[in-house]
Amino acid sequence: MKIVKNVVCPFCGTLCDDLEIMVEDGHIVGTKNACRIGNAKFMHFEGAVRYTEPLMRENKKDDFKKTDYETAIEETARLLVESKLPLIYGFSTTECHAQAYGMELAEKVRGIISNTAEVCHGPSVWALQDVGYPVCTLGEVKNRADVVIFWGSNPMHAHPRHMSRYSIFSRGFFRERGRHDRTMIVVDPRKTDTAKLADIHLQVEPHKDYELISAMRAVLKGFELEVDEVAGVPSETIYEAVDICKNAQFGQLFFSMGMTQSKGKHRNIDNAIELVIDLNAHTKFGLMPMRGHYNVNGFNQVCTWISGYPLCVDYTRGYPRYNPGDSSITDSLMREEGDIMLNIASDPGAHFPQKAVKHMAKIPLVCIDPHQTPTSELANIIIPPAIAGVEVDGTAYRMDGVPIELRKVIDAPEGVLPDSEILKMLMKKVDEMM
Ligand code: SF4
Repeated sequence: MKIVKNVVCPFCGTLCDDLEIMVEDGHIVGTKNACRIGNAKFMHFEGAVRYTEPLMRENKKDDFKKTDYETAIEETARLLVESKLPLIYGFSTTECHAQAYGMELAEKVRGIISNTAEVCHGPSVWALQDVGYPVCTLGEVKNRADVVIFWGSNPMHAHPRHMSRYSIFSRGFFRERGRHDRTMIVVDPRKTDTAKLADIHLQVEPHKDYELISAMRAVLKGFELEVDEVAGVPSETIYEAVDICKNAQFGQLFFSMGMTQSKGKHRNIDNAIELVIDLNAHTKFGLMPMRGHYNVNGFNQVCTWISGYPLCVDYTRGYPRYNPGDSSITDSLMREEGDIMLNIASDPGAHFPQKAVKHMAKIPLVCIDPHQTPTSELANIIIPPAIAGVEVDGTAYRMDGVPIELRKVIDAPEGVLPDSEILKMLMKKVDEMM
């Protein structure tokens, strides 16, 4: 049995890089150090249905027929070249080279390109552009943070090793006693498993995050709250929480979709960033989005290097334009725009609004995905890739923006190509046809 060490977990944005994977006869037989989700990612990475050959069908009601990469890619290239408005979407569970090739392809075919941040941390990106980004690394949090806030996020379930590796239980240089040296505040309408561990739980009413942040900023600036509670949180608890934050040596606010996708969206994050800026007048405080998919952040980085914009990039005029709401794939589909969609490394069929999925079902859909998903069920062409982070190496960006090298653990099934190879072949075909 071979043990592959220092493997990076390609599941959540924590990107734990200390996994050990046991391999026997080319198969993964065990893992060490992974959480239950990470363990499942390696032990069951093939899923219930793993595609190993491209599949095609002309009509969505027909059965799929097996084909080869050459034919599937040629047909995809033809659809893209003949399209008036191609939509290219996904990219959150693949490595950065594939993301860069995706950008190049979008520019060639003059399409709109975006990633899954549209339905998770897109509002965070927009807020960061509005008011800035008081950021630090997870290493700094581990070594320095004595006050940690989780706002609208539940790492016990979504990022299970985050608290033990970096934020709460971990022993750091200035926090030798781990949990005993940190105060934990959770803001969540529900008593989640994370909230149960908190020193203070601010049980905010749903969609009232903006009010609570504003009240905290008012208290911080010395104003009195002339009410008994704000957004369902007793005023004395707000005073207590602000006092803890103000007296922190190093504080950190982690936030997630409970804040980004509740009423107010990016305005909630604007306000949270302003809170952190206000706190920096008293102490050192940082803020970080808890990114979900392991390389959703990578696409926003790659997209920004190449186009100047982090997502929702419109190449229809031959140069990049950026107008979320107009140049976002979700909104385009809901307006019944787009006459072909190329989906890669994501499952919009399971996560987009029904109206958007209805349009996906009407137009030609190409799905580059190793597994059977609700999206692949709507596709005309399925092109299976090797799985990044398990069968392919590459780079991914952790939630704090640190790039981490993914390791290949086992070989892909014979003949199955990586996402980057598929996209390169696709661009070559597009060049030949244009
Ligand atoms: Fe993987 Fe996230 Fe679990 Fe770490 S916390 S092992 S990255 S799923």
